[in-house]
Amino acid sequence: MFEKSVKAYNDACEVIPGGVDSPVRAFKSVGGTPPFIEKGEGAYLIDVDGNRYLDFVQSWGPLIFGHCDSDIEQAVIQTVKKGLSFGAPVVLETELAAEIVEMYDNIDKVRFVNSGTEATMSAIRLARGVTGKNNIVKFEGCYHGHSDSLLVQAGSGMATFGTPSSPGVPADLTKHTLVCEYNNIEDLKKCFEQSDDIACIIIEPIAGNMGFVPASKEFLKECRELCDKHGALLILDEVMTGFRVSSTGAHGVIDVKGDIVTFGKVIGGGMPVGAFAANKDIMAHLSPDGAVYQAGTLSGNPVAMAAGLTSLRKIKSNTSLYEELNKKAQRLVDGLKEAANANSIGLQVRTIGSMFGFFFADKEPKNFKEVSEFCNFDRFGKFHHEMIKRGFYFACSQYEAGFISTAITDEMIDDCINAANEIMKEL
Ligand code: PMP
Repeated sequence: MFEKSVKAYNDACEVIPGGVDSPVRAFKSVGGTPPFIEKGEGAYLIDVDGNRYLDFVQSWGPLIFGHCDSDIEQAVIQTVKKGLSFGAPVVLETELAAEIVEMYDNIDKVRFVNSGTEATMSAIRLARGVTGKNNIVKFEGCYHGHSDSLLVQAGSGMATFGTPSSPGVPADLTKHTLVCEYNNIEDLKKCFEQSDDIACIIIEPIAGNMGFVPASKEFLKECRELCDKHGALLILDEVMTGFRVSSTGAHGVIDVKGDIVTFGKVIGGGMPVGAFAANKDIMAHLSPDGAVYQAGTLSGNPVAMAAGLTSLRKIKSNTSLYEELNKKAQRLVDGLKEAANANSIGLQVRTIGSMFGFFFADKEPKNFKEVSEFCNFDRFGKFHHEMIKRGFYFACSQYEAGFISTAITDEMIDDCINAANEIMKEL
């Protein structure tokens, strides 16, 4: 069933480290080797062996309208015909920025980059430039890309001072990163007592990188208040949630506004894009207007802008979009929960907008430590493997969220639930 994919993987391993260009794709946490994808078609992925999978990953979030959406495809084709890149301004950049500005009332200006990693790295530089302070606060289990100062794990001893989580990152580069526990107000307060040099808090307001774990309203409120009290900026990392959980991202769901917001994924419609945005006073610090340097040869690429612009305009024109997506996500997680209950398996499910998550656990985890402690990773691995064999493609790690696209129908979801029910009998 997977012969060509296995060969493709082995060939790739000869010339690409681990056979992949981003580690999670290698299926290390669930075992086996990944299907190599030939093409997408609406709700489906088709691999090089011709297997079809109902896709709940959606390129890790961007493809809210599924694969090969004809409007996005047309916009990309028309733009490609005019040239791939100019390294000079194009009107599409202004148009996409204007769409984002219109939807977020705390944003006046947007700077485009090429990935979520660049967006958060630049947002932090801007926060430091604006405040003149050095330290940043991040939360264990939140992922903001792979820039050096964000590859940290909670240190021991002084609790909050992070230590590098990867070889190649000197401790000197993470000593300004303070790591706190997600959803733990006391821990965060202590951190602000410990340091008067905090430039910003960076947070996934609805975390999708330790599985699907939303921050509590009280916790987010505390983040906001501590930033205001101590002259720090709040960076809401909406790379995953932006235009995913609502037309105004997590910002539209939670009661708290960020000073700087980062984007990626949906705003590129499947093309490589990131962005960071803020009000005009904060953005005035950014080069060439201000002194905080930031740049990119391919930033604001016209093809990527066209894909993103078409996505956002489609989102704007469909007022019931998120309601419909949410209903489908709810149908899926309710069905999975029922199947689990019927088979006496502990399963925790959550969904907001078109994002969802499920944990094989008896209690709902609210931070990274609890995800690691409560969840049955073995069971997830078996479930994932069996679902792939039956044509259902879920994220290949329990530390990842899932996504619904408009191309996924209720019938497809019901087929998935039936398959899950069968599998859970054997788990
Ligand atoms: N922030 C968040 C919240 C993310 O989920 C990700 C990637 N999944 C990033 C930043 C980094 O984005 P990229 O992989 O495009 O660099």
